[in-house]
Amino acid sequence: MKIIAIANQKGGVGKTTTAINMAAALALLKKKILVIDLDPQANATSGMGIDGKDTPSLYPALLGQLPAEECILPSGRKRLDIIPSTMDLAGVEIELARSGNHLTRLRETLAPLRESDTYDYCIMDTPPSLGVLMTSALAACDEVLTPLQCEWFGLEGLAKILHVTAQICASGVNPRIRHEGVLMTMYDGRTNLSRQVIDQVERHLPQMLYKTVIPRSIRLGEAPSFGHTIFEHDPSGAAADAYLKAAREFIKRHKP
Ligand code: ATP
Ligand code: MG
Repeated sequence: MKIIAIANQKGGVGKTTTAINMAAALALLKKKILVIDLDPQANATSGMGIDGKDTPSLYPALLGQLPAEECILPSGRKRLDIIPSTMDLAGVEIELARSGNHLTRLRETLAPLRESDTYDYCIMDTPPSLGVLMTSALAACDEVLTPLQCEWFGLEGLAKILHVTAQICASGVNPRIRHEGVLMTMYDGRTNLSRQVIDQVERHLPQMLYKTVIPRSIRLGEAPSFGHTIFEHDPSGAAADAYLKAAREFIKRHKP
């Protein structure tokens, strides 16, 4: 199993929306997918229609009380399971920060899952900060996929996450980490700015940029309130089409 962290320390750029819908699209394309919701906000959990109240999160596993495998729940969709998040992950952040090996704890917790072939890919949703959970995700993952809002400040955020990924790599904690891609989100074809931001990324990071761009879509914003992926909420709309194309591109980029 390959672990992909959906990461951008900037808030509200479409990380969770991308985690849910890339995961759902990859599952539709016959890949076996595990979503890990590493954000105490638990948006990916509720957005997939999972009630986080009585569910296990990664919390006991991170404290060594339970194998990570036992935290997995079916999402009710084919080939798509989830390790949900609950508010107590906020507490784990504090405990991890206190412990000596906080950077590598998540990596160690997920090691048995990574080595098994139950899943092809793990899509990990991460919180919007450079805190302990987010850096643990970078230490634990194989690849980083960064959703980037088509806005000017987005570019500054991208420089920062690239820098942090390089630092994690250089520190020796995760020397094989790779920044897999940048997926532009909330594209608005009516503005020049959206196009200009994409052009900038293309100029500086041509390999990294996904050709598929996710459009701004009201339906995409509504879907999580129903606990639906875009493929359940508006399967024939432009947003579903875009996430499916992005997933096809992902698969192509991962051909050996
Ligand atoms: P956070 O940093 O708080 O975790 P995030 O990066 O995970 O946020 P999302 O929660 O995915 O971002 O998206 C932020 C808001 O924008 C949500 O209300 C979401 O429904 C909406 N949204 C995401 N992508 C799109 C889109 N392409 N078009 C319209 N709305 C979108
Ligand atoms: Mg989120």
